[in-house]
This record gives sequence, structure tokens and C-alpha cells, in this order.
Amino acid sequence: MSTDVKRVITALAALLLTALAGTPARAADGDGPSAGQRIASALRTSPVYVDESYADAVPPARQRQLAERIRRTGLPIKVVLRPLTKGDAFDGDSDVLAGTVRDRLPERRELILITTDSDFSDSLKGYEWPSDTHQTRDAVSAAGLLDEMRDAGLADVTAKAVDLVAEGKGRQRYEEATADLGGGSPPAKSGSNSGSDSDSGWLLWSLIAVPVLALTVLATRTLLRSREPAPAVPQLVFATARAADEAELRRRAEAEVLALGETTQAADVATTPGLQHALDAYAAAGTVLDEARGLPDLAGVLALVQEGRDALAGSPGLPLCFFNPLHGRAARRTGWRPLGRRERLDVAVCEECADALRGRRAPEVLTDTAQDGRAVPYFELPGGRSVWAATGYGSLTSPLAGFNSSRARAR
Ligand SMILES: [Zn+2]
Repeated sequence: MSTDVKRVITALAALLLTALAGTPARAADGDGPSAGQRIASALRTSPVYVDESYADAVPPARQRQLAERIRRTGLPIKVVLRPLTKGDAFDGDSDVLAGTVRDRLPERRELILITTDSDFSDSLKGYEWPSDTHQTRDAVSAAGLLDEMRDAGLADVTAKAVDLVAEGKGRQRYEEATADLGGGSPPAKSGSNSGSDSDSGWLLWSLIAVPVLALTVLATRTLLRSREPAPAVPQLVFATARAADEAELRRRAEAEVLALGETTQAADVATTPGLQHALDAYAAAGTVLDEARGLPDLAGVLALVQEGRDALAGSPGLPLCFFNPLHGRAARRTGWRPLGRRERLDVAVCEECADALRGRRAPEVLTDTAQDGRAVPYFELPGGRSVWAATGYGSLTSPLAGFNSSRARAR
């Protein structure tokens, strides 16, 4: 894997955590001004305030280390780590949080505040009063983007942010960190998206085990937050093509469809109430297989076969893993809040993805190609364009039902 890809993944991992983990909306510090007051009071005894929902990520021992680190800088740095959700005490806005807390601190004249970021709650945002003398804003943003922070947790990133503020070269650090996100450029993609060859070529090229959408958000954000002349849009580098994966999956999907066909033929009409359902799923799986244009469709074949098998067995189990159906059948259901959405979805996930969510890491996600050619998590596509986004491969609704209604629409 190229260094560029690693950097990209690093940045993503830092950004996606909260959205994927579905941070609890409620925090323990109450509402409105009283929440700000409570945080400000806590900051009088320690420069580090950590909401209890972050206590696993930044346990008391780490909080003490952070406080000591801050003390050594000799700077008026305070850290507030708290989930931010729209509608909460600070309306999910780190600017409101920072302002409210500052208003309630005695040392408000000179203050450097490092808070959770409203847009990406596991990344950080820096504030400094009376002016940005220590380049705090850029220093703090850079901390989560550095290559060395690849596998870092919130405590490490916060410590790094403190170091970078103390160093005072935030602007340079931020530029270095974001320049790293650009690198080479993806292969030129000519013409429209309609050619299936160029589509699958692009899809393969852009297959990457992390949701790339967030990276685009990052890139956009990088541009938006800069008041200076906008730097060139970072060109993203994706994983190299893995054509073998698709060929292999296609063979497996074919074998599974055949096996389902044989089992349905052998089934006894009298004792198999789900037979018609299974036959329908078998027919749909065959159609999708014939028309499959890449991994998302081939994974859909597996989901339809699974539905058919369950119908035959008369015991519907959990569907395939929502985040990546190639992980196999899910082990449990869990609530998950997509990036930028308020409502939680109930999705079925494999053990590995469940672990990732619990550990506030980004699960490995199956990507699909958006209309503009970008690789995005398959579930980010509009449901009208992708049966798989609409059904979540069975997590949201039955793949067969999704397939049928997409066919009905196409007619
Ligand atoms: Zn999974």
C-alpha cells in the first residue's frame, strides 16, 4: 500500500469514528448555560475536561498526563472533550461550546481551548483568545491529520495537539499534513460513467477499505476553512486495482446461485412453505449475477442467495454484514448513525464491524461508484440508484423486495 493511501486512511479513521460509532446524544453535563458552567467549574481544578462518554478513550490516567503536559507548556491551554450533537446544550456546535465555556472562565482574557469538533466529533478544534498567536486553530487541526497519528486514539491526538500548539508552527504543520493527503493522482477517467467497462475499471481502481466520501468532505472542508488563497484540491489516491477479487467473487456467486437452484429443486413443495420465496430469490440472484457490474452487485447476489436459503430453511437469520456483506452473515444488530444524519439506523453487523464500532474505529466498508465517479460507501448512494443502498443487503429491507421494486420502477 502506498504511503499516500496510508495517509488517506489515517485521516479518514480520525474523521469517521463518531459518525460510525453513533456517539450518545446526551452528555452528563446538563443543558445550556449550566452545562457551560459545569465544564468551566471543572476546568478550575484541571485543565482537562472529559465527558464520561469519552472516559474509555481518555481515562483518568491519560487525563492527568494531559494536564501535566499542558502545565509544562506554560500556556493557558484547556481541553474540553465532549460529544457534540445538534440539539444538545451547545446545539452541537464547537464554536458555541468554546464561547460558552470561555465566558464562564475567570482567565478568559488569554485562553487556548481545544475542544471536540462539531463536524467530526473525534477530531479536535482549536480556539485562541485574544488572537491566534500560537496558530492554535491550524495546530489543532493538523494534529489529527499527521501520518504518525495513524492509529492514534483521542488521548494521543489531544496530546499531539497540545504539543503542536506549544510548538507554535500550526500553519506550517497544517499545510504539511494536508499536502500529504494529495499525492499522486488517480488515473484519468474519460467520457461519461455509462460505459460499464470504464465503470468497473474505475470501481476497481477506487476500491478501498474505508469510506472515501469522508475524505472528500475533508478535502472540501480543508478548502472551506482556509481564508487564504485556496490550495489545489487534493487529488486522492486509491488502492490499486484488485481485479482478481472480482473474478473470484463472481465464481463464488455463480457457485452459490447454482447450489441454491439445486436445493430448491430438491425441496418438497408440501413441507417447504418458503419455496416460492426461495425460487423468487433464486431467479433474482441469477438476474443480478448476469448483469453484475462489480463487487456491489456480486455481493447482492450473495445476499439474495442468503435470503433464498433462509426461506427454504424456514428460519430467517440475520442478513449479511451491513457495512460489507463480503464479511459474511451478521452476528448482531446494532444502532448506527450515518455521517450527517440525525436518525439512527438499525443495522446487522459482523463481529469485526461490531468491534470496530465499539472501539470507535471505522468499519471496513464496501464501496460503490457515485455518479461523479467517486468511490463512496455503497450505502451513500441514493436508494433509487442502488438496490443495495436501499436494502443495506438485507439490514434495512429484504434484498428481494428491493430488487423487485427496482424492477417495477424500471418498467
Ligand atoms: Zn462486517
